[in-house]
Amino acid sequence: MATAVVGVDLGGTNVRAAVVNRAGELLAPPVQHPSRAQEGFALTLEQITLTIREAIAAAGVSPARIGMAVPGHIDSARGVVRWAPNFGEMRDEVFEVWRDVPLADALQARLNLPVVMGNDANLAALGEYTYGVGRGAARGLVMLTLGTGIGGGVVLTRHQVQGNAHWEGGVLLVGLSGGAGELGHTIINFAGPRCGCGARGCIEAYARRDAIVELAREQARRNPDSLLNRLTEGDPAKITPALVSEAAAQGDPTALAIWREVGYYLGIAIASLISVFNPEIVAIGGQIAKAGAPLFAAIHEAVRDYALPTLLQDCRIVPAERIEDAGILGGAALAWQAVEARR
Ligand SMILES: [Zn+2]
Repeated sequence: MATAVVGVDLGGTNVRAAVVNRAGELLAPPVQHPSRAQEGFALTLEQITLTIREAIAAAGVSPARIGMAVPGHIDSARGVVRWAPNFGEMRDEVFEVWRDVPLADALQARLNLPVVMGNDANLAALGEYTYGVGRGAARGLVMLTLGTGIGGGVVLTRHQVQGNAHWEGGVLLVGLSGGAGELGHTIINFAGPRCGCGARGCIEAYARRDAIVELAREQARRNPDSLLNRLTEGDPAKITPALVSEAAAQGDPTALAIWREVGYYLGIAIASLISVFNPEIVAIGGQIAKAGAPLFAAIHEAVRDYALPTLLQDCRIVPAERIEDAGILGGAALAWQAVEARR
């Protein structure tokens, strides 16, 4: 019987991997190497292979499967990266991104282990459902991962669908081609700021890391006496979400107002998600979620203003519990699902 799987988090900067048991425990600390994402497929494949081999050696057990979280549009069923804008290589002075790359087969051939993969934010939701705040039992979990962009994922159980669904446990919504769950592109203002996706007013355009930093710089400039501005020591480039949180923790009204604004926008998007999915849990993950109480207070205020009251009544909006190893645990959760499905 299988006792372990490998969870892999393939990022634009690093690839991390760890061997994970069925309870979601890492059997050894994660192994990490640069993913060399902009140097071509062959090199990145080398780095992934090396990282997985070292992780298996560190744990000293034989895993049954590999589950990998990849940022991009991932067709899990075919094991193909449809599109991954952080990965590619220069060809004739043009950066060609990964398109329709058969990553799962390539890894499988090298490591002689079955490989499953999915979108990183989708799998973060599956990992959080299985090993975090979802406790493997929540009746529907919607997750937003706040970072450079805003990722999303939706995990449903048979209790959220009508008809003859017989599956047990949580299943991930992936859509027709693996592209579902792009919750960061929930539009809260059709005339809002331009988003990286080309549309306007997506929640990502308001609450991605750089949007928060830009808002904070403007507020620091307008409030020169604020603690936030003093913490920058005259250099606006020093502003990070963590610095805003540091000032907010000391009661700085300018910093608190920034989290109130960002949280309120997030809450409006979350109100729509609650209407669509009627989940038991909305989990907020990613490094930005560490802003904590000031951010969550504003989210709660907005959902009270915008969500359908009877749907909100049974819904908990909470920080994710497994933020640091979200990709690894998500990959592991997917791998364990694949192990179970074969039984
Ligand atoms: Zn967008």
